[in-house]
Amino acid sequence: MSTREHILELVNDAIESSPHEHIYDLLHFICGKSYIVLDAVAEILLVTMSEIDPFEDAVQKLEKERKYPGMVEDEPATESEPSSKRTWKIYVCKRWETCEVCDEEYDVSANTSGSCYRHSGEIEVDEHAATWDHLGRIAGPIDTPENRKKYCDGFRWTCCYQPSDDSDRCENGTYAPRDALSCDYTC
Ligand SMILES: [Zn+2]
Ligand SMILES: [Zn+2]
Repeated sequence: MSTREHILELVNDAIESSPHEHIYDLLHFICGKSYIVLDAVAEILLVTMSEIDPFEDAVQKLEKERKYPGMVEDEPATESEPSSKRTWKIYVCKRWETCEVCDEEYDVSANTSGSCYRHSGEIEVDEHAATWDHLGRIAGPIDTPENRKKYCDGFRWTCCYQPSDDSDRCENGTYAPRDALSCDYTC
């Protein structure tokens, strides 16, 4: 094994076992130091307009070409190139988001209609549920977060009237980003 391979093996092992804060600090540091690393990290963590809206991207490129003829897009990074001369890709938002409706993590560039399975309504007390017959009157309010968990058979969805613990969701749509500042593009 060469020295480089040996160090790489040690570094890979250290990456796996180091506290997350140190890995975050390291990424922030090397992204600020190296164009190549910045390009690579941006490619993984961000999305370009062409990934989420090819038509809009084509329109913008034509417009740019008209204004600045001969401008070349998406050149690979080299460390020797001064930052001011580089033509950077235009990133529009983060790649990884969490859906505020179903709590799933998703890739913004693959957010198509039908990606997110959910209920379109709210959870309400099902007054006719057998759960309440067996329990009689519960002291205090019925519709509480604790009771929704404990007596899920006694609650139902307003959209499809299925029990609140039913996993058979009645609607599918696109994922909705939890981060309000994130882009909400869909494919
Ligand atoms: Zn969702
Ligand atoms: Zn439903």
